[in-house]
Amino acid sequence: MMIKENFLHYLWQNKLFPTHNLQSTDGETVEIIDIGRRNSDAGADFFNAKIKIGGEMWAGCVEIHLKSSDWLRHKHQHDEAYHSVILHVVQEADTDIFRPTGEKIPQLVLPISQEMLEKYETLLDKKEKIRCAEDFSEIPDIFIHSWLNTLLLERLQRKTEHIAALLEHNRNDWEEAFYAVLLRNFGFGLNSEPFERLAHSLPQAYLQKHKNSLLQIEAMFFGQAGLLPEEESDEYAEKLKREYAFLKSKFGLQPLENAGWKLLRLRPVNFPHVRMAQFSALVHQSSKLFSKIIEKPDYDYICKLFSAEPSEYWETHYTFRHASPPRSKNLGKTAIDTLIINTIVPFLFFYGQRNGNEALQENTLKLLEKIPPEHNHIIEEWAEIGIKAKSAFDTQALIELHKNYCERKDCLRCRIGHKVLTRK
Ligand code: SF4
Repeated sequence: MMIKENFLHYLWQNKLFPTHNLQSTDGETVEIIDIGRRNSDAGADFFNAKIKIGGEMWAGCVEIHLKSSDWLRHKHQHDEAYHSVILHVVQEADTDIFRPTGEKIPQLVLPISQEMLEKYETLLDKKEKIRCAEDFSEIPDIFIHSWLNTLLLERLQRKTEHIAALLEHNRNDWEEAFYAVLLRNFGFGLNSEPFERLAHSLPQAYLQKHKNSLLQIEAMFFGQAGLLPEEESDEYAEKLKREYAFLKSKFGLQPLENAGWKLLRLRPVNFPHVRMAQFSALVHQSSKLFSKIIEKPDYDYICKLFSAEPSEYWETHYTFRHASPPRSKNLGKTAIDTLIINTIVPFLFFYGQRNGNEALQENTLKLLEKIPPEHNHIIEEWAEIGIKAKSAFDTQALIELHKNYCERKDCLRCRIGHKVLTRK
C-alpha cells in the first residue's frame, strides 16, 4: 500500500516515529525539540518548530512531502512563504533542495516503525466504510462520548456558516433568516429547493401584515408557489385565487416560474400543498417565532408551537384536486423533530454564540438529547457494529463522523483512528 502524505503529517504532528539518533541526509544529527504548530493556511506545513541540526538550534518552519522532488514540483523554491523552512521531512530523499540564497535545506527521511506501518495499512486497507469496526469494542465508552461531543460541535459549527451568510444577506434580521431556512426545510429534502425559492419570493414581512387571516397567508403561499389551480375549482380554491389576485397586486408579487414541485414518490402527507398549509398555520398562530423559541428553548413548548392546526379544507385534501377521507394534517412528531434538528438547533446555537450566551448554547444541546435517535442507513450501520445512539445528539454526531471522516477515509484525523493506531 502506498503511503499518503497526510500519514507523514500525522506521524510528525504526533511524534509517532523513533526520535533517537536521527540524522539528516547529509549525516548531521537532528534533534527535535518542538515539532511546531500545524499550519492550516498557505505556507509550510508546520511553523514555530525548534530543531537542533548538527548541534545548532534552528527555529522556523517544517515542510513535509513524500519525495524531496515534490519541493521543486510545487515550486516552493520560488515562494517566499517557504524561505523560513528549516527542515524538509520526506519519505524518500531523491534530490537536494536549496534556498534562493543557494543554501542547502537540511532534509530528514522520516523513520517509520514497522508496527505503525502495519497498523496504518490494516486500518486504511479495509473495504468497509467503518474500517475500525473490529476495534470499537475495545475503546472505552467515555472516550467515544467525548469524541461524539466534539463531532456534534463541529457539525453545528459547519451549519452555522450557512446561517451567518444568510444573516448578512438579510441585514442581520434573525426572524427573516430563520423564516427562510425553516421554510426551505419544510421541503424535507425533495422539495427543499422550491421552498427556498418560495421564501425568497415572499418576504415574511408581507405575511406578518396579514397574519390574522389564515386564508390570506395560504393565498400568498399557494399563489407564489404556482400551486393554485388554473381551471375553475372548488369554492375554497376560488377564494384563495381571489385573495391572491388582490395581494399580488398590493405587494407587486412575482410568482415562481417552473418551481419544480415534486409529488412523485412522496406519500400524500408529504405533498408540498400539505407542508404549505402547515407552514401557513404556523405563521398564522405565532408571530416572531424565532424570538419565542429563544425565550423558551424547551422541547415540549416548541412541539406545541409547531403543532399548529392547518385550515379545515386540508383535513379532507392533499392537493386542490380531489377530496380525501378526513385526516388531521398537523405536522407529525418526526417532522417536528427533523425541523428542530436541522433548523432550530443550528439557529439557537449560532444565536447563543453570536451573543455570548453560553446558557442558550447548552440548552440547545440539551434539546437534542430530548429528541429520539434518527433512523437512517448511517445510524443502522453504527448500530450493526454495536454503537447504539440514545438521542438525536448521538445520531447527529455519528452522521458527522460517518460523512466527514469514515466516508472520506480520514481516519488519521479521527480520534478513534488515533486510538487504534497508537494502541499497544
Ligand atoms: S474515520 Fe474513525 S470511526 Fe471512521 S473508520 Fe476511520 S477510524 Fe473508524
